[in-house]
Amino acid sequence: MASTTTTPDEPQEEPTEEESALETARRQLQHAADHLDINPNVVERLKHPKKVHEVTVPIERESGDVEVYTGYRAQHDSVRGPHKGGLRYHPGVTREECVGLSMWMTWKCAVMDIPFGGAKGGIAVNPKELTDDEKEQLTRRFTDEIRSAIGPTKDIPAPDMGTDPQTMAWLMDAYSMQEGENIPGVVTGKPPIVGGSEGREEAPGRSVAIIAREAIEYYDRDAEETTVAVQGYGSVAANAAHLLDDWGATVVAVSDVNGGIYDPEGFDTHAIPSHDEEPEAVTRQDAPEAITNEELLELDVDVLIPAAIGDVLTVDNADDIAADMIVEGANGPTTTAASEIFAEREIPVIPDILANAGGVTVSYFEWLQDINRRSWSLERVNDELETEMLAAWQDVREEFEERDVTWRDAAYIVALSRVAEAHETRGLWP
Ligand code: GLU
Repeated sequence: MASTTTTPDEPQEEPTEEESALETARRQLQHAADHLDINPNVVERLKHPKKVHEVTVPIERESGDVEVYTGYRAQHDSVRGPHKGGLRYHPGVTREECVGLSMWMTWKCAVMDIPFGGAKGGIAVNPKELTDDEKEQLTRRFTDEIRSAIGPTKDIPAPDMGTDPQTMAWLMDAYSMQEGENIPGVVTGKPPIVGGSEGREEAPGRSVAIIAREAIEYYDRDAEETTVAVQGYGSVAANAAHLLDDWGATVVAVSDVNGGIYDPEGFDTHAIPSHDEEPEAVTRQDAPEAITNEELLELDVDVLIPAAIGDVLTVDNADDIAADMIVEGANGPTTTAASEIFAEREIPVIPDILANAGGVTVSYFEWLQDINRRSWSLERVNDELETEMLAAWQDVREEFEERDVTWRDAAYIVALSRVAEAHETRGLWP
């Protein structure tokens, strides 16, 4: 009966400017499915999450008042392995957003061919308004509320917007203490001292840089003559900027929540503190020009990397984007309508599910290390990440060339074929 189920999350037929992550994710799925000869029942199943956990998370604030937050864990699909995906702390977190983001995780793991399914969770909270102690309490209580849903073979959270390695250490500790044994594999993105992997924090930015480098080469350009604008300067953005800068590209603009800085000659990106080193420091740097985040997106550069938040490339600015190519660092920075405009304008958009998949790929390495109780060197992590990214790039590139579709469709085709084949092979239970 799943094929006739209608839920309040059902997307409208025509793209609107206000598009939720779930609407975008469902449209992208249908778009890719239209290119493939796959069982429509499998596609219908994949438009819906397997389960969504909603919990209330009360904590005692330092004022003595009790505040109650709402937390979610959306588990989309697990046909290829345990659910996997980030946990975000952000005031805008909703059930619908978690479901849409959990779908992206299913495709991200499948495009990388790693044996995980998709999940995403979050708490609707502004972490900037909490002290460290309050964040710890929030994380421990949330972990307890979703305890039965997570575990190294069930669902493995990781950092995302508003959470970091410390958050993951608290989660791992809260889970392990209750289970009565040390279970590092319940979560990835932990500090290395408690079972985290070397290179995990830098991995999403590293993969964005690797994929940007491959795309630059694919379009017959020379990295040394390439200008890059990066929206954001958090972990993904700063690490991508550092590597591209190291590889000879000219990073002409970066930004944070307060705005951006622009230098046509290029910045020494290592001299600009990332958000983790010093929050919101970008606009305090010496630079020839201060720009807004909107202006950054419209700069005439070779490569634009939106690596901050979702939905920044929309119908409102898609016609004004002057970059020759876009590499998505954030999850879901481009709405469906904007993607269509970029396709018409022949601006290649290398999708998030490929470009920033280094995060979940090194999460997989971390999980392997935890299960085997053996840590890998940074060199090994980076080498294996490079190998996995190049293999995924090659798989996507083949579909792109053979089918003459967008890069996003090509990545979805790779991912969806794998997930659909696994569903067909396993069959519907019972
Ligand atoms: N939050 C990251 C993402 O969106 C990482 C997920 C993970 O490592 O599980 O890809």
